[in-house]
Amino acid sequence: MSCPGSGNGHRRQFIKTTTAATAAASVATTASGKAKAYQQDNGARGDDAVPRATLGRTGASVTKLGMGTSWALSPSFVQAALYAGVRYIDTSESYENTNSEKVLGQVLERTKMRDKVFLVTKNSKSKASGDDAPKAYRDRLDESLARLRTDYVDAYYMHGVGGPKELDQLKDPGVKKAFEELKKAGKIKYAGFSCHDALLVEFINAAVDCGWVDQIMLKYNFRDKIDAAGLEKALDRAHKANIGLIAMKTQGGAEVSYPDRHADYVQKGFKKEVAAIKTVWADPRMQVVVSEMTTLSDLRENVAASRQPLTAMESKLLEQYRASTANLYCHGCGHLCETASKGVKVSEVMRYLRYYEAYGKRQNARALYQALPAEARMMADLEVDKLDAACPHGLPVGDLLKKADRLLS
Ligand code: SF4
Repeated sequence: MSCPGSGNGHRRQFIKTTTAATAAASVATTASGKAKAYQQDNGARGDDAVPRATLGRTGASVTKLGMGTSWALSPSFVQAALYAGVRYIDTSESYENTNSEKVLGQVLERTKMRDKVFLVTKNSKSKASGDDAPKAYRDRLDESLARLRTDYVDAYYMHGVGGPKELDQLKDPGVKKAFEELKKAGKIKYAGFSCHDALLVEFINAAVDCGWVDQIMLKYNFRDKIDAAGLEKALDRAHKANIGLIAMKTQGGAEVSYPDRHADYVQKGFKKEVAAIKTVWADPRMQVVVSEMTTLSDLRENVAASRQPLTAMESKLLEQYRASTANLYCHGCGHLCETASKGVKVSEVMRYLRYYEAYGKRQNARALYQALPAEARMMADLEVDKLDAACPHGLPVGDLLKKADRLLS
């Protein structure tokens, strides 16, 4: 199970990175590799192989399992997911430096399945607002459409919004106009944003108030339900406003993998990945989980899980697992500890450390860390005691930041 993705944690160690060049070349072949293996083992599946949900006010019928694509996507894997019945695909212009969009475009064109899929892409680069926004958004979308080999996407997002400036952007009439014009032109059906920022609650509330947001993709997992009255209230509001809600990062991977803490549960037949994704599906407000599946085994497990309810035993064991690893998971509430971090972007650094350790996305994690401004990763002057004391979740913040700097520099 996993995201842009909800992380598949330790299972990502099985990822074999496929270069973009290899991917582009192999797409021209007939169903091969992973797709063929999946087809042989499971048979081609229809549109109803994965249960569906109605995506909020969009009214669209979507599979409740979506595919995340922020990795070196292989064409045969995309095809395997389509065979398996996945009909919701989430991508972005920024994933693999536009290659994810290209691979998806090639596969959807070749399989002629574009219109069977609810396709989402995202504007990662334009920070335009006001009168500049409509053209900036249109230009970026046109580039995505060309790569995706389609003349429309089902939904277009502001990608990974975070911080006060982007909160203002969300409320900006020029941005609203940009999305409205794209809808009128038939280039997008719905509009939204993705967010895993500390200001998630504020972004969700602003979405309800600003009126143009049809759907939101947010970081949401079994850990986020604890001590999260603000988030729960905001989600209730969004649900009441009939905004479609899509969860990512559903695995809640702790910063480091602790097999010893896992062993007892595994002996009891507990699969944390299955219980974690089912827990999100059990929330009636969440219509889709976008999972960054990277192996056929992830795909099979997620498709099977989508057809089964969460059991009381899974729920109990997941709660025990959560409690025993709670002080290893960063909730991204940077506003709480960054008052003591002397400019270090704690929540972002922790996220990149999770990408590195729990998701196995080492290259990506290093690139993201190194792209931070120098002052956001200046660890030399940290006052570790103060910083640790500022985290209400009991994380050894200073140690983890130093570890991140060592691994990601
Ligand atoms: S270190 Fe603690 S306070 Fe800081 S963002 Fe993570 S969980 Fe929140």
